[in-house]
Amino acid sequence: MESRSSGVLEGKIALVTGGSKGIGAATARRLAAEGAAVALTYRDSPERAAEVVRGIQEAGGRALALSADAADPRAVTEAVDRAAGELGGLDVLVNNAGMFVFGEIDELTLEQYETTMAVHVRAVFVAVQAALRHMGPGGRIISVGSSLAERVPDPGNSLYSMSKSALVGFTKGIARDLGPRGITAALVHPGSTDTEMNPADGPGADAERALTALGRYATPEDIAATIAHLAGPAGAYITGTSVTVDGGVTA
Ligand code: NAP
Repeated sequence: MESRSSGVLEGKIALVTGGSKGIGAATARRLAAEGAAVALTYRDSPERAAEVVRGIQEAGGRALALSADAADPRAVTEAVDRAAGELGGLDVLVNNAGMFVFGEIDELTLEQYETTMAVHVRAVFVAVQAALRHMGPGGRIISVGSSLAERVPDPGNSLYSMSKSALVGFTKGIARDLGPRGITAALVHPGSTDTEMNPADGPGADAERALTALGRYATPEDIAATIAHLAGPAGAYITGTSVTVDGGVTA
């Protein structure tokens, strides 16, 4: 069970997309442990989302799970509006929902392209537009990119890398748009992180580990800690930039 410790996010309301597992679940738990009321979205894993919500509630927090396919712009907008409506506003948006897509350029299909760009790029655009209708000064927009947006060490990553790189320019652009409103935008680039998407005991894990300086995968909590830092008072002056949390992969 998570305990509510420092309370730096007391009174804040957060929405984490893709909060049913992995980095998103760890982020929802961490933000709640710091005092935020948290909504999280899911698509395929309602039980896992309910488990995250239950854990937060058992620790004395407020949480809510919402079904919303990130590939569906209307569902994304509705989830943002419902989160803000039911929890009473929105201070922190974490754009995390995503999936891995692998294939060399002449193997990839147009359908893979459309889905990947819809989930990793269009959903972020739509969620930010929806969130801004509820967010005031002090608002935080934090998106989850990838170290593969910065450096691509292997073949087969072009589409995934392209979709995550798009968030670099978007984050810089909205930081300029929203700075005058007191809202920040930042991007977190995880490296290899031990989740169901990329298990630390998976077939390619040793090769990924070998690229790190620290010789290990990140835990989802490693990434959540950086997201919480950006969401809290310590992140107030961090905007229009990316924070890489990759154990040295891009060093
Ligand atoms: P994960 O354990 O597979 O979790 C992915 C989460 O995203 C789940 O909660 C899943 O929800 C949700 N999701 C996926 N597609 C969705 C959709 N269409 N609509 C709504 N929710 C959707 O993966 P993870 O490793 O935590 O990945 C989280 C983010 O980190 C992703 O953006 C990923 O690209 C990025 N990332 C991961 C790594 C890594 O090594 N793990 C490295 C760099 C970046 P449901 O199961 O409910 O559908």
